[in-house]
Amino acid sequence: MDTTFDVVVIGAGSAGYVAAIRCAQLGLLTACIDNWSNEAGHPVLGGTCLNVGCIPSKALLESSELYAQAHKDYQKHGIEVEKVQLNLAAMMERKQNVVTQLTAGIEELFRVNGVHWLPGQAKILEDKNIQLQRGGERTEIVAKYIIIATGSSPITIPVATLDKTHIVDSSGALAFTEVPERLGIIGAGVIGLELGSVWQRLGSKVTILEAQDQFLPVVDGQIAKESYRILTQQGLDIHLNSRLTKTVTQASGIQLHYIHNEQKQMLEVDKLVVAVGRMANTDNLFDEAVDLVLDEGGKIHVDEYCETSLPGIYAVGDVVRGPMLAHKGSEEGIMVAERIAGHHYTVDYHLIPNIIYTNPEIAWVGKTEEELQAAGIDYQLGSFPFAANGRAKAIERTQGRVKILADKKTDRVLGVHILGEYASELLAQAVLAMNFSASSEDIALSIFAHPSLSEAMHEAALDVQGNAIHIKSRKR
Ligand code: NAD
Repeated sequence: MDTTFDVVVIGAGSAGYVAAIRCAQLGLLTACIDNWSNEAGHPVLGGTCLNVGCIPSKALLESSELYAQAHKDYQKHGIEVEKVQLNLAAMMERKQNVVTQLTAGIEELFRVNGVHWLPGQAKILEDKNIQLQRGGERTEIVAKYIIIATGSSPITIPVATLDKTHIVDSSGALAFTEVPERLGIIGAGVIGLELGSVWQRLGSKVTILEAQDQFLPVVDGQIAKESYRILTQQGLDIHLNSRLTKTVTQASGIQLHYIHNEQKQMLEVDKLVVAVGRMANTDNLFDEAVDLVLDEGGKIHVDEYCETSLPGIYAVGDVVRGPMLAHKGSEEGIMVAERIAGHHYTVDYHLIPNIIYTNPEIAWVGKTEEELQAAGIDYQLGSFPFAANGRAKAIERTQGRVKILADKKTDRVLGVHILGEYASELLAQAVLAMNFSASSEDIALSIFAHPSLSEAMHEAALDVQGNAIHIKSRKR
């Protein structure tokens, strides 16, 4: 085994594996160390996103949505189905197959690009030496550059200790073997809403306890309000301003004791998912002699180019500042690889897309109305509801809207917010437009195919100047 590399990447999640591939493509002798293994104990690539995060959750979101549609929507299309039955084991098997295909795909990409995959536990020693431990075996490796991409783990709370059976984290909630009759979720964040949607569609009575009094405070206020209304109508029982104080596991279920508006409340559920955020993975990563600066909250401190306080050691993805999003980590991984290879490369942190895969999906890029108001920036707003879009009508997906915020003086687009079917896909055109500093007029002057959901983007851009065709513009 080679023990000297140009670059050693620690972590093979979305940030790390992308960094490793790009480094190898750029001609750097690259190794990637990762300690993830599957249930059978075999090492696998892909980290959280592929194994227990983005991918399996999207697989289950799709399956559960089809199941829900078969129950409630097929009739509208004139399709009579005798009996719709759930085969949860088959649904989970499909999810696992998707995961296995994708993780095997990374293995192949490592092979064709010449990335050395080193399964095991890495510890950074002095002078960019790395101790690799696998089983009882230890090897010392040396690198010119190190890229730390160790990701994050679910935050645990003392009042709801995980027991892997009744009280679980997001990974546990992706692997239930039966549909819980009563499901409790702590945290109405991204994970709480996505996993809550999956199990609610499959038949659980889902109750979400959220400590904050505002629903999705990071989302544009109008969009958050509209999505709250839709999600609660779907059956998600979301209790805001509700702080869990104690859990008691009994034969009949798990008692959740919580404070809501200063009142003590109690609720019993069969399973509980704790989804209160994630924290950076840095435990046992450094030898005592390695003096790396951490941020408050335990993330690794880096500059705008992801270099840590120690020259030649970089950190990317969830383990550093910024949103914990796979695509943000991947972009940072590419930036670091390019910079190590001597190229100029930056990440525009203002243009990171965000998506919550509920139904309808919530997607946004740039500033919210609230952020613009707080910053004292004058803006104009254009908005278009999917209810007035022909394609949305044809596919029976008329909830939500596209909302564009543009600078009042320059008309430059500052934020785009979408609540609707395929919002995740529609958002890409907004990211692209904003990356080229588009004005709302630039979007308005582009031709959008008819009939398509994208026309809502066109009409929202037209609406900024009061020129929307298919609604009575608010400005007339
Ligand atoms: P989150 O920060 O999105 O939400 C956690 C929620 O839990 C917050 O609203 C918080 O107020 C609440 N909370 C915290 N402590 C609580 C308590 N004791 N009682 C009740 N509520 C409490 O975190 P998450 O949903 O766990 O997701 C973790 C990370 O993973 C996020 O950064 C997210 O961006 C990322 N993620 C992204 C996607 C996606 O892009 N679609 C999907 C899943 C996860």
